[in-house]
Amino acid sequence: MAIHSLTSIYDNDRLDALRAAERFDPQAIHKLHSKLLRRFVADEDAVADFPARDRIRLHTLDLFRRCDSKLDGATKLLFRTDADLLIESVVLRIETGRSTLCVSSQVGCAAACDFCATGKMGIARDLSAEEIVDQVLQAGQLLVGEGRRLRNIVFMGMGEPFHNERQLKRALDLLTSRAYFNHSPGKILVSTVGVIEGMLRCADRFPAVNLALSLHSARQSVRETLIPLARNYPLDELRRAVSEVNRLQAPSTTVMIEYLMLAGVNDADADAAALIAWLDGLNVHVNLIPYNPIDDAPHLIGSDRPTCKRFAERLKAAGLQTTVRHSLGSDIAAACGQLVRQENRAIARQAVLGKTSSPG
Ligand code: SAH
Repeated sequence: MAIHSLTSIYDNDRLDALRAAERFDPQAIHKLHSKLLRRFVADEDAVADFPARDRIRLHTLDLFRRCDSKLDGATKLLFRTDADLLIESVVLRIETGRSTLCVSSQVGCAAACDFCATGKMGIARDLSAEEIVDQVLQAGQLLVGEGRRLRNIVFMGMGEPFHNERQLKRALDLLTSRAYFNHSPGKILVSTVGVIEGMLRCADRFPAVNLALSLHSARQSVRETLIPLARNYPLDELRRAVSEVNRLQAPSTTVMIEYLMLAGVNDADADAAALIAWLDGLNVHVNLIPYNPIDDAPHLIGSDRPTCKRFAERLKAAGLQTTVRHSLGSDIAAACGQLVRQENRAIARQAVLGKTSSPG
């Protein structure tokens, strides 16, 4: 049977038609959703008493490889999509029992930021909402199998979430809906390179979902060298957007400002001063990110610890809530990130060759 003829567990209309055709109790669907999406029960147990278990499709992604960090509680999951391309999700076991999942929204990314391995992949394909939430389902099942709980979901994996806004919104609906995952919107964070219209629409529609802005510099020329899209979204417009997001969200919700620390690029006292001035009056907290070196950007070097510390101290002295990101899984980041990039390049090249060499 072709896989798409199976009914997706997220397609209520088709599930309902299946229920009518097979004449089973609607409660069976509620029970299945509850077991699978809210309690992350393993597949076999979740479908054990479902009357039409051979007619439904639980997953849209195939687990291709799992990489466990030898240093800490991070696990990278590589999934194969329908289009054969690979994506990655990262499970971060931060404290006993509590865990964070970093999900991808696209294969590759069109933003092409200088420091980002995904941006160097040379392709950008949207994931469907089902592919986005299947990362949550499969990681949730993995964690529950270990006696842990999935607490936070962050859109900080591959892709620019607001370049795939329709599927992002569908995914957020599924994740926060009581009938599906029933995940608290306050425990979801969407990170963006600064796609202004997307940020505003998201804050309007999902005011309790947290937003993070990858700022990386409060100086327009520097930001443009790091993030080509910065040309389309100038810093003064971006600042107005963050202010508007603040207005749309609850006063207790702050926008996270992500700031990659790059030696000699954005880590001088003048950069800290520009950042402090830019953030003045906004309801934000700053997260300084240690740079994770990538092969394609040999010209970029992460700031050293004393520089990061000094930068953080300056921000704190100006009254800004500031944290330095603790990087987990540094040993698996390179290994698997490189793998996804190489494999996807080869697959994309083959697809292009296949098209151009096919007759007619
Ligand atoms: N496109 C979105 C989400 C994906 S990137 C965005 O730009 O926010 C998630 C975060 O990882 C961003 O803050 C991004 O700037 C950061 N990041 C990308 N490459 C990195 C690297 N090599 N080292 C450290 N952080 C990186």
